Amino acid sequence: MLPTGFTDRPSRPSYDVVIVGGAMHGSAAAWFLTEHPGFSGSVLVVERDPSYAKAATALSNSCIRQQYSDAINVRCSQFGAEFVRNFRARLGGGDEVPELRLDEIGYLYLADNPAFAAALQANQAMQAAEGAGTTILTPDEIAARFPFYVLDDILCGSFNARDEGYFDGYDLFAGLARSARSRGVQYVADMVVGMRLSPEGRRVEAVRLASGEEIACGIVVNASGTRGGATAAMAGIAAPIEARKRLSYIFTAERPLDRPLPLTIDPSGIHVRQNGPGSYLAGGHPAEDPAVDPDDFTMDHDFWEESVWPTLAGRIPQFEAIKLTHSWPGHYEYNAFDHNGILGPHDEVTNFFFQCGFSGHGLQHGPAMGRGTAELIATGRFETLDLSPFSHARIAKGEPFVERAII
Ligand SMILES: Cc1cc2nc3c(=O)[nH]c(=O)nc-3n(C[C@H](O)[C@H](O)[C@H](O)COP(=O)(O)OP(=O)(O)OC[C@H]3O[C@@H](n4cnc5c(N)ncnc54)[C@H](O)[C@@H]3O)c2cc1C
Repeated sequence: MLPTGFTDRPSRPSYDVVIVGGAMHGSAAAWFLTEHPGFSGSVLVVERDPSYAKAATALSNSCIRQQYSDAINVRCSQFGAEFVRNFRARLGGGDEVPELRLDEIGYLYLADNPAFAAALQANQAMQAAEGAGTTILTPDEIAARFPFYVLDDILCGSFNARDEGYFDGYDLFAGLARSARSRGVQYVADMVVGMRLSPEGRRVEAVRLASGEEIACGIVVNASGTRGGATAAMAGIAAPIEARKRLSYIFTAERPLDRPLPLTIDPSGIHVRQNGPGSYLAGGHPAEDPAVDPDDFTMDHDFWEESVWPTLAGRIPQFEAIKLTHSWPGHYEYNAFDHNGILGPHDEVTNFFFQCGFSGHGLQHGPAMGRGTAELIATGRFETLDLSPFSHARIAKGEPFVERAII
C-alpha cells in the first residue's frame, strides 16, 4: 500500500519541473515553487523511499545555528529561523500545519588552542556584523553561566542563544510536503534511474524511472541527498557528494543538569545538547571518516564506549552516570570539495539544477535553498538572498568556497 499522498505513477507524460528526491530539499523546492507568483507550471517529485526511513531528513539532529564562517550561511540560517518561527502563518494555518517551536538552547563552541580561538573570534566578528548574537566568552564567563563544565584546557568559547537551538525538522519537512501536495504537486513513489539528454548533451529531455516510464521534463532538480553524485552522473555531471556516517545517541543522566545544556561542540568534535527534560543528545564520528555506501547503516557501538561517553564525562562530570536509551547511524550528504551546498543550474547541462551537498547543515537551510531554487526557476535570478556562491561552477573551476564551521 502506498503511503498517504503518493501515487504509484505520474499522471502526465511531461512536467515543467521534475524533482529527484522528496525529503527536506525536494519538498522545500516544490513548496516554494507553488508559492512563487511567477510560476504556474506542473511539478513532479520522484521519491524512491516514501517511508523516508533512511533519509538524512529523518535521521537528523534538527538544530539551527548562526555560527558559520561564511556570511551567506548565516543569512540562510536567519531565514531558516524566521521560517520555523512563522511556519503556521507562512503555510496558511489550518489543521494540517503544526506549530513549530525553536528551542533556543544556543550553541557553544569550545576552543582549546590559539588557532581555533582566533578562528572563533574572526567568525564572531563576521556573525555580529550579520546581526547574529554571538559573543566570545572567557572560561570564567562560561563557568558563571554553565557551572557544570570542566574548562581546564579551554581558552575561550563562542556562544549564541538567539535563533540557535533545535526544532522538529521532520515536522518542517512533512508540513511542506503536505502543503505542496495540496497545491497540486504530485509525489510519485518511484526511483529515477537514468536521464535522456538532448543530442548535443546540453539538456535533460526526460528522466527514466525504475518502473520503466520515461517522463519528459522542462527542468530537473537534484534533491537526492547522499545520492546527489549518482543523480548528477545520470546527466554526465561530476559532483563531489559522498555519504559520510554520523552517529547519534540519546541518553538520560542519573543527576540531570540544573539548566538547559547548549549544543556544546567539544574540541574533540563530539557534540552534545539538551534534548527535552532530563534527556540529552550526543553525536560524532570516528577519526577515520571514509565515504560509505549510502545503504551502509551499520552502527559502530564501540565508538560510544571508547570515545563519546569518556569525552562527555571528562567535560561534564555529571555525565559519568548516564544511561544510553537510543542510538542510530545516519549520513551527511558531504560535499568533499568545500563542505558547502551546491545550488542552481549546471553551466553546460543548463536545465539540470542542484539542491544538494549541504554537509550536515541542510535541514536548517532547506527553506532558504528551496526558495532560491524556486526564484531561479520562476525568474532566472535570485530575488531575495544571492545564493550564487553555491553554484556548481565553482567546482568545475576548482575554486572552493569553504565553510569551516562543519560539525
Ligand atoms: C546525524 C545527522 C545529524 C544532522 N544534524 C543536522 C542539524 O542539526 N541541522 C541541520 O541543519 N542539518 C543536519 N543534518 C543534515 C540534514 O539532515 C540534511 O542536510 C538534510 O536532511 C538533507 O535533506 P535532503 O532532502 O537533501 O536529503 P535526504 O533527507 O537524504 O533526502 C534525499 C531523498 O532523495 C531520495 N532519492 C535519492 N535518490 C533518488 C532517486 N534516484 N530517485 C528518487 N528518489 C531518490 C531519497 O530516498 C531521500 O528520501 C544532519 C544529518 C545527519 C545524518
